[in-house]
Amino acid sequence: MQSGVVSDAEALELAELGQSALPALMARAAALRDAAFGRTVTFSPKVFLPLTNVCRNRCDYCSFRRSPGDPGAWTMSHDEVLAALDRAAEQGCCEALFCLGDKPEGAFRQYRTTLAQIGHDSTVEYLHWAAERALERGLLPHTNAGVLTRADMQRLRPVNASLGIMLESASERLCEPGMPHHRAPDKRPSVRLHMLREAGELRVPFTTGVLIGIGETRRERAEALLAIRDVHRAHGHIQEVIVQNFTPRPGVPMAGVAEPSDAEMAHAVALARLILDPEISLQSPPNLNPTRTALLLAAGINDFGGISPVTPDYINPRHPWPHLDGLHAACATEGFALRARPPIYERFATPLHLDASLAAPVAAAAARLSSVRMPSDLSASLRAAPARFTEVAP
Ligand code: SF4
Repeated sequence: MQSGVVSDAEALELAELGQSALPALMARAAALRDAAFGRTVTFSPKVFLPLTNVCRNRCDYCSFRRSPGDPGAWTMSHDEVLAALDRAAEQGCCEALFCLGDKPEGAFRQYRTTLAQIGHDSTVEYLHWAAERALERGLLPHTNAGVLTRADMQRLRPVNASLGIMLESASERLCEPGMPHHRAPDKRPSVRLHMLREAGELRVPFTTGVLIGIGETRRERAEALLAIRDVHRAHGHIQEVIVQNFTPRPGVPMAGVAEPSDAEMAHAVALARLILDPEISLQSPPNLNPTRTALLLAAGINDFGGISPVTPDYINPRHPWPHLDGLHAACATEGFALRARPPIYERFATPLHLDASLAAPVAAAAARLSSVRMPSDLSASLRAAPARFTEVAP
C-alpha cells in the first residue's frame, strides 16, 4: 500500500476494502498523522452553551431538538449564559462553544417572542452578544449554529475564533423519504457545502465533519470527505474535521439502530486521514468512544475536540466527558502526549484568517494553554469534574 494522501479514485477504492485490509489502512493513516502532528494529541478545554435547543429540523437521530412548548425546550437567558461563562473562566477553560438549533426564528413565532423578551431581534444578534461576553472573560468563542448566511458569518467573524458546521454527509439519498435527513431541510448537502465555500471566501477558520452510521454507505463517506477536501483546496480554511459516530438515544426514530462497530469507526477515521490534506486536524469525540482511545489513535486521529469541566455534552447528554487523568494515561500508554489547545489552530492565528480584534485574546489564550502539561498543571476541577455528568438526563 502506498503512502501519502490518496487520489479521488484511490479514495473510492479504499472505501470498499474489506476487513482484512484494515490493519494496513490504519498503519498508513497513523504514519501520515505522525508525520504531520507527531505523537501529540490535543483537546480543547471548553464550556458548552446551547443558546437554544429550538430547531426547525427533525433529524431522525436527534434527541436535542425541541419545538417551542415541548418539554425541555430551552433558550438560555442572559443570566444563564453569564453564569456558565463565569464558571468556565474560573476553571481554566479556553473555548466557549455555542452550539444550537438551526434557524429557529424562521419557523417559530413563539421563539421570536422569547428572543425579543431576552432583548435580541435575531439568534445571530444573541450569538454576537454572548461571544462578546465570552471574550470579556478571556474565553474564545467557537460557534456552530447550523446553516449561516454569508452576512451572518460576516457579523460573527470578528467575535469568533472559528466557526463550524458538520457536513455530516454529502449524500442526497439520506434526504429521501424514510431516511434520517428527510425532515431536515438544512441537512441538504448542497446547502451545507455552500456555507463551507462561503466561509472559505470569508477566510473563516472552519470546523466540519462527517457522521458515521446514519445509513450512509462507505462510498458515500469517502465522497463526503472528498467534498470537504475539495472545498479546503479551494480556500485553505478547514482547520479540523470531526469523524463522529452515531449513537442511539431513546425516543428518536433511530433509537433501535445499532451504532457503528469498532472496525467501522477505525475504517472511517483511517479513510479520513488518508483523504484529507495532512495539515487538517482529525478529531473524534472521546465521550462517544470511551473504550476506543487506543483504536482511534491507531487509526490516525490527533485530536479529541472539546472537553468540558463545567457543562455536559448537551447534544449527547448520556455520554459524559472523560476524566482528563484517565485520558492522559490512556494516551501515554499508546505513546502520545495529551495537550490542551485553543479552538483556533496556530497556523490560522494570522491576519489572513483572524479578525484583528481577536489577535490579542487568541495570543493570550494560546500562551496560557502552552504552559499546561497533563495532568499535573490542570486545576483539580478541570481534571475531575466531568464525572458529575454521568447522570445527566437525556
Ligand atoms: S441534529 Fe441539529 S439540525 Fe438536526 S434536529 Fe438536531 S439540532 Fe436540529
